[in-house]
Amino acid sequence: MKVRCEDCNQVMIVRRATIVHPYHFQESGLPDIYLSGVKVYQCPGCYEESGVLPQIEYLMTGIAKTLLSKPGMLAGPEVRYLRKHANWQAKELAGFLGMDPAYFSRVENSKVPNLGDAADLLIRLLVREASMKEEHGREELDLFISAIRNGQEWADAPQFRFTSKQKWHVAA
Ligand SMILES: [Zn+2]
Repeated sequence: MKVRCEDCNQVMIVRRATIVHPYHFQESGLPDIYLSGVKVYQCPGCYEESGVLPQIEYLMTGIAKTLLSKPGMLAGPEVRYLRKHANWQAKELAGFLGMDPAYFSRVENSKVPNLGDAADLLIRLLVREASMKEEHGREELDLFISAIRNGQEWADAPQFRFTSKQKWHVAA
């Protein structure tokens, strides 16, 4: 089956992306993600390329994990990628960071160099926590944050009770 270019309607050529001639994964929203080992349709007219990406969720998660441990500060598009990966609205995440949503959006759009040390670390921790589905995950994290931010103050200070089973419990 022939695949035609969406822009100039020429029949696309198939190639396999290699380490030397990789596929530029622009759809990721990140400027410099390159892929190899996948099939790529290439237009001989306008050189537009379109990659065939199997198991894309694993790829997206792999990119997120790599960004979480990136040395230095996250750039705007990286912040946006991680936010979307964790399924947060910009406004919502700005709220968690205690940051003005307009300022947060300026960071994502690279109008401001970065989030600053504290928020850069916090966003990584939030995204990491939200992505650990087995132990914690998004729902758990949302509950945790709303309990801190919107919950009622403690009526009494918590008590900790040592039980006959040799375990500590928080006594309500
Ligand atoms: Zn074309």
